[in-house]
Amino acid sequence: MSGQWLAKQTSGNEVHVLPLGDLIRHDHTDLCPCGPTPSPTPMADGSDGWIYTHHSLDGREADE
Ligand SMILES: [Zn+2]
Repeated sequence: MSGQWLAKQTSGNEVHVLPLGDLIRHDHTDLCPCGPTPSPTPMADGSDGWIYTHHSLDGREADE
């Protein structure tokens, strides 16, 4: 069973995808201790944006 994920826009061009109910508390920044992986993505206004995918410490990615 996969856990739930939350997508949260934190600034004009950053979106953070966070695992809900993880073992640690995630910062909504690229300095989060889990070491989020940035992926470039075009924003709705045509500018460059980033999606930061955070890593759950309970290993839920293995289910996907
Ligand atoms: Zn994180």
